[in-house]
Parts: sequence; structure tokens; C-alpha cells
Amino acid sequence: MILLRKPKTNPDQLALQLDLFAASEPAPAAAVPLDLGPALPSPTVQPPLIVTPNPVVHAAPLPTPLIPEPATPAKPLLAPPSGRPADGKRRIQLGEHTIDFALLRSKRRTIGFLVSDEGLRVTAPKWVTLAEIDNAIREKQRWILTKLNERRERSARRLQPQMQWRDGATLPYLGSDITLRIRTGQRLAVYLDEVTRELNVSLPADAGEQQLKDRVQGWIQARAEELFGKRLMIYADKLGVRYRSFALSSATTQWGSCTSDARIRLNWRLMHFALPLIDYVIAHELAHLREMNHSPRFWATVQSIFPEFESAKKALRDSAPETMPIF
Ligand SMILES: [Zn+2]
Repeated sequence: MILLRKPKTNPDQLALQLDLFAASEPAPAAAVPLDLGPALPSPTVQPPLIVTPNPVVHAAPLPTPLIPEPATPAKPLLAPPSGRPADGKRRIQLGEHTIDFALLRSKRRTIGFLVSDEGLRVTAPKWVTLAEIDNAIREKQRWILTKLNERRERSARRLQPQMQWRDGATLPYLGSDITLRIRTGQRLAVYLDEVTRELNVSLPADAGEQQLKDRVQGWIQARAEELFGKRLMIYADKLGVRYRSFALSSATTQWGSCTSDARIRLNWRLMHFALPLIDYVIAHELAHLREMNHSPRFWATVQSIFPEFESAKKALRDSAPETMPIF
């Protein structure tokens, strides 16, 4: 069974699913053009859950869409609520934590837990007593408190000021920050000083922010083409497979994809991450040339060329897209 992610699905819901990688829309018949345009396409709408006997594309989705949502004030998810719980909410004491939660009665047969920006929501069958629900929450309290904490940290990160596109600004590149240095009056060029970790961008004196963004994005995409091309060759050799073509994507919901006719697309924004995460996505997509599914045989194939895939998979899932620069 293939799990497809919903657009805007929250990561905690995703974490409850078995597999973060998903099948996607059918493969395009024609060659995928190299997408170097600065504009982001609108997110593709995908059905929440689909069962395809013969998936054509396998794709690594992003934990959340890459276009960050506007910052919203963080709600204190773990802060001790004062007074009485909000309307319709119930309250429980878990050790030192006072947790308010929404209780939903449903026809389901088991008790379900969901942590979102709204806090904890518990769904329970009509015949389960309140005491039994409290007990179920206590049994699950470690998971619940961890998830509430992660949510709070995520909200806090969203509140960080967005990147200012100016001299001295930093952005993540291959797992660590580089600093933008704007030069004028020289020939137009962009180069990275590996020692100082400064990205020197030459611009006309009257250039605006958009021109700076475009130059930086163009530079990162050119580096992505070089690097991904090299890494694809290394891992394709290890696995003994050949791919037909490779192109960069600017997808807002996927890190990579592979079609049954061996066309691979990789998101240029992977360049923000350390090499092992990039290698993992590359190994993942290449492994689909052997196994067009996410069966144990597929994961064994990934492992055969990229043994440390579990930690990279987790790091990618935990990456916070809202901390990435917006181009
Ligand atoms: Zn996959």
C-alpha cells in the first residue's frame, strides 16, 4: 500500500503513518524540462490516501510545503493553563504538566491521539468512559508530551524573522551557513570562498533584492546540477542501475521522484542540507529502479548502497522547511 501525503498535512499526523515516502502523479510522457525558473509552482494537490497496484512515480515528499506559512503567534502547548479549560476542552494532569485536550466521540473502535497546532485531540468510541480515556492518555503520555514539545519548538522557529536579503545575511548551504557578500563595480560573478564561507555576489549598483535572490538561486541550482549529477553516478554504479535522465525540480511537496522509465528529479533545495541527506534521497530514488514500491526489499536495496539511511531519513523528516530561505 502506498501512502500519499495530503498538502498541509501536519508532521505529527505524518509521523503516525508508516512511510514518509509516497507515490505521486503518473509519469510525464515527455522529457521533464530543466526547471530553473525562480518562481515556485503552486503546491500539487494530491489525494490523502491512495492504493495503486502499479505505481509509476515514487517520490520523497517534504514534511510540509516549502512555501512557509506566515508566522503565527506560538501557542503555549505545554504551559500550565490557568483557570478552567477552554470551551469544550477537557483537562488532565500528567505529572507536572497540565494538558487540555479536545475530546471527539466517533464510530471508530479504538482511541486515537492527534497533536496539532491546536494541541492534543483525542478521538474515542462513544462507549468508552472518561476514566478510561484518561487512562489511555496516561499510557500514551510520553508520546503526547514529546509531540506537544516538538510542536511548540516548531512554532517558535516559525516566529524567527525571515531572512533579510542583504549583505551579511546567512543561508544554509550543504548543512552549514554561508554568508552573503555583495560586491559592486566588478564583473558579474558569484563565487563561494570556501575558507571564509562567504558567497560573493557581484551586482550592478542599482540592483534590487529580487536580482540578488535570482543570482543566488541560479548559483545554488548550478551547484545542485553538478553535485547531484556526480552523486547519482556514484550510487547508480554501486547499485548497477542506469537512469535515463535527471532534472532539478522546484516542487513544493517533494524532495525527489523517479518514474518507471527511469527519469529522476531532485529538488534543488536539497542543497541546503548536508551531503548525507542528499545522498539518501539519491539512493532512495535510484533504488526505485530496482523496486517500484516501498517494500522491505526496497529498503534492503537502499541499505545496500546507503547503510546509514535510517538516520538520514529521520533527519530529512525532522528538517524544518520554515527555516529555509524563501526565494
Ligand atoms: Zn520512494
